[in-house]
Amino acid sequence: MNTRVLAASPATLSTAAELLASGQLVAFPTETVYGLGANALDKDAVLSIFAAKDRPADNPLIVHIWHREQLKDICEVSPLAEKLMDAFWPGPLTLLMPRKESIPLEVTAGLPTVAVRMPSHPVAAELLRVCDLPIAAPSANRSGKPSPTTAQHVFTDMDGRIPLIIDGGSCDVGLESTVLDINQPTPCILRPGGVTQAMLERVIGPVTVAGSVLRPLQKGEKALSPGMMYKHYSPDGQVSLVEGAEAHVVAALRELHHQAEANGHRACVMCFSEHVADLADCHPHDLGSQACPEEVARRLFETLRRLDDEHMDAIFSEVVPPEGVGLAVMNRLGRAAAFRTIQAKEVIEKA
Ligand code: AMP
Ligand code: MG
Repeated sequence: MNTRVLAASPATLSTAAELLASGQLVAFPTETVYGLGANALDKDAVLSIFAAKDRPADNPLIVHIWHREQLKDICEVSPLAEKLMDAFWPGPLTLLMPRKESIPLEVTAGLPTVAVRMPSHPVAAELLRVCDLPIAAPSANRSGKPSPTTAQHVFTDMDGRIPLIIDGGSCDVGLESTVLDINQPTPCILRPGGVTQAMLERVIGPVTVAGSVLRPLQKGEKALSPGMMYKHYSPDGQVSLVEGAEAHVVAALRELHHQAEANGHRACVMCFSEHVADLADCHPHDLGSQACPEEVARRLFETLRRLDDEHMDAIFSEVVPPEGVGLAVMNRLGRAAAFRTIQAKEVIEKA
């Protein structure tokens, strides 16, 4: 299949809408990451998303809408859900709500709830308006790769597998949406994203965060959110997180990099902009400013992809405090590192 990449324009959006209506796949930009969309009401179209991504069938999809009227055919909407939609839609918040019959079980991986979101990106919103269908769309990467934040990333993963990628530039948030389960006594964040726990609590009171957000699933533990079961966001090389006081971390990154190179590895560090000059001889990859976790979020997946392009096999990374958007960053970075952590102080003491 020939994969076209077209700049967002009215003509591109009407081509995309025709493809979606005929059961085909279209990748499109959203404010979080690029999505791989299909008509959520068409079971076969939905199945082709799983095929194009090599995605396990038990990992459910998020349904995207442009208008709340569409919800009447998709899910049951509670007063709590209405309150959250009033506050955060359109935007990077996905709500789990009881599924209605017209949504095929392939979308929800057999679960009784369906995940729904209203994106704020103007291209996504306009595409959803023009096609006027609920669109099931996971991230437009091959399963196991970092989510795509540019049309080029999508092309790298999906060339020959889908007919159209709409190019709308770089994504603003850069990490996938916050997934919130509102079907339990205290709403629970299953996946942290751009809408933070504090932002949610200001609107609806106490919100919890699923325990597995910052650690691997334990043996036999059931994932509340099926996506968390899978190896995710992994570069091919081994990523290690380096923790400790700032001065220790910079010294430890230098030491670890030199040790790895001495052992014949292609080694690099991921560090904050503030430390790039200090670590100039350690092949630094700039994560963005430590004062701005939003910037780190925006750049993270692009940085992880670059590690593979450069065939790095030993990667040492700084960490951000797991608060606010930093929680979402550490959820993704932790998974990229399989939660492998090194204490900076111990490295320096041994050196
Ligand atoms: P993606 O958009 O590729 O990041 O994938 C959507 C993610 O949303 C999945 O990996 C799940 O973790 C989560 N999700 C979607 N539907 C449900 C659901 N019904 N229950 C729990 N988690 C869900
Ligand atoms: Mg994904």
